[in-house]
Amino acid sequence: MKIANKFPGKDISLEDIKTKFPLAAKKNKNHKSKFSISGVEFGGNNIPVFAGPNMVESEKLIINCAKNVKKHGADFLRGGAFKPLTFPYRSEKYTETRLEGLKWLKQAKLETKIPVITEIMEEKYLDKICEVADILQIGSRNMQNYPLITECAKTQKPLMIKRHYGASLRDWLGAAEYALVEGNKKIILCERGVSTPHTHRSTSRFMLDIQVIPAAQEITHLPIVSDPSHATFWRPWVSSMALASVAAGADGIMLEVHPDPKNSAVDPLQPIDFNEFGKLMKKMNSVAKSASNRKILK
Ligand code: PEP
Ligand code: MN
Repeated sequence: MKIANKFPGKDISLEDIKTKFPLAAKKNKNHKSKFSISGVEFGGNNIPVFAGPNMVESEKLIINCAKNVKKHGADFLRGGAFKPLTFPYRSEKYTETRLEGLKWLKQAKLETKIPVITEIMEEKYLDKICEVADILQIGSRNMQNYPLITECAKTQKPLMIKRHYGASLRDWLGAAEYALVEGNKKIILCERGVSTPHTHRSTSRFMLDIQVIPAAQEITHLPIVSDPSHATFWRPWVSSMALASVAAGADGIMLEVHPDPKNSAVDPLQPIDFNEFGKLMKKMNSVAKSASNRKILK
């Protein structure tokens, strides 16, 4: 397998490709997974966009988001009912039973017919989440929760595995292999920023690893999505990093979009509003066309 020999880093060896993640690895240079989820094509000429608030705060908010992101051309509504909050103190908008949040998400999907991606943190909610989700999201914090990945993969629901902010490409592909070995072929990977000592401002927690997009695509056939919202943690940088991700060849984009970003219940520094999202969709479409003759908008 020549790709491994050519790979300049020392992280992934030919041996790894053969023995550690044979299912996630490309079989030849042009090998790329193509599949459809709820009518949306992955791995082809279309670059799907997942957009919505960080958290499903209320029924009203999530329905509003669903309508507006769909209007601007998003393919999936994102939003966490269950949230891996870094600190245990919760906003008032975090209802104690997050099953409530799932119901609101279901209602938004019913009213707008937009497919949904939402995070799963605990296996005990798997059945309930599967009733609503078109894609199960494994958050960065659970990237190496192999029992959770295995149980999710067994349902054969599409799975998106976010890269842990300290994980190498090798570790990330190992997580994908856990899902693939269960016979689930609809596996998506998502880069969402890595920890780095090089912070550019006091609140910058992560750095978008744009280079991991082409690096991962050299090794794996799975679609690689980029999430500049969690990576930058800073609204003014989100649009440019989304455009850069499209230019770098990302196979999908995840964005946090909120009607009133400053009052988002979680991470209010990072969501963009509907207006900026609409403009960004058009710009991403132009970049996709000129960079790789792909499209974001129909
Ligand atoms: C999210 O997408 O809502 C999220 C919590 O992301 P991450 O796991 O990348 O922090
Ligand atoms: Mn699209």
